[in-house]
Amino acid sequence: MTSILFTNGKVLDPEGGVTKSGLDVLVENGRIKSVGSGLDAPSGTRRIDLAGRTLMPGLIDCHVHVVAETLDLWANIIAPTSLAALRSARVMEEALQRGFTTLRDLGGADIGLVRGVEEGLIGGPRLIICGKGLTTTGGHADLRRRTDDRPGMMSDRLGSMGYVVDGVDACRAAAREMIKGGARFIKIMANGGVSSPNDPIESIQFSREEIAAIVEEAENANIYVSAHLYTDRAIRRAVELGVHSLEHCNLIEPETARMAAEKGCIAVPTLVAYEALHLEGKRFGFGETEFSKIDVVRNGGLRSLEIMRDAGLKMAFGSDLLGELRKYHCMEFELLAKVLTPAEIIRSATVIGAELCGYAGKLGVITPDALADLIVVDGDPLENIALLQDDGAHIPLVMRDGLILKDRLN
Ligand code: ZN
Ligand code: ZN
Repeated sequence: MTSILFTNGKVLDPEGGVTKSGLDVLVENGRIKSVGSGLDAPSGTRRIDLAGRTLMPGLIDCHVHVVAETLDLWANIIAPTSLAALRSARVMEEALQRGFTTLRDLGGADIGLVRGVEEGLIGGPRLIICGKGLTTTGGHADLRRRTDDRPGMMSDRLGSMGYVVDGVDACRAAAREMIKGGARFIKIMANGGVSSPNDPIESIQFSREEIAAIVEEAENANIYVSAHLYTDRAIRRAVELGVHSLEHCNLIEPETARMAAEKGCIAVPTLVAYEALHLEGKRFGFGETEFSKIDVVRNGGLRSLEIMRDAGLKMAFGSDLLGELRKYHCMEFELLAKVLTPAEIIRSATVIGAELCGYAGKLGVITPDALADLIVVDGDPLENIALLQDDGAHIPLVMRDGLILKDRLN
């Protein structure tokens, strides 16, 4: 692999929340070899003149569903798996063009898509998977209507995001199956949802015994459990039971946020999901019931950010946009900016995301020996976070694993 030297730009340090001038960055064999001023590079090195632009770690989105190519979730499920895979690849490649070099998939993606990236078949971000999202009968990932008595969620299909499972032993078996399939964490639906037909937001899902069993299986495999959660009661219960990654958290209260922070949990707010559904849900066939659920969680969004920040609860960047709504991906930056500073937002989309993906010190930073996931920005996003919006229009170059996958600098 050739080496690449970035010169004549600025380097953004998310940890310190500062941008430094006068530093070169040398990339070799997919890793950052060295960072310093006036670096020597081996002969044959490609030099990239940043002309004052900013080099920063690639963005990490910690809540996506790459198999949800359309908002008609049953259409994703019944699509032939070959077609579902190609559509997922397109979803991933679009995210990379926006500057995202790592995606954590919260239900749907399988090891085939992970390998597709590793083998160079997909020009997309690296993918961190959980397999399918575990759900109870009638829970958030059980999309069957009341009159639909077909068994399960056709979880053998790539386009299916959920896996229906009830009872402690079945939960253990399901967790083990996900782990065998390459899961880097286990996802459970522990609270009601918006896009599911039969579960009110406040419904509590899975018994304490079931969640404890799944947490034990995950910990035995040296991974963690992530849970879909909105209400304070559901979040508190999940934290007590050892769940590490708290998805959404729109209705969290300060005491629970402090408890979660003390336990070292990481929250993943996904405000744009509800904003996009609010804007376009009717067009995509959402009825009155779903719509009233959207408003409950949407109204709690900004307050939840304040509560979590004030409690010192770490937050990783997430979007959770399904299907056609993914065009709103970068709007999450705009929503976060109503409460958080650019430095806080950038940390959530780099260092904290890296920690949640199991790549602390390897992703989200520009330091020697880190993986070479880098983006070039036309300006300093610490001064203007809007540079990360507009679908990557201000991000002319994206590198993942030392490979340049987007290059508009030439
Ligand atoms: Zn969810
Ligand atoms: Zn989700």
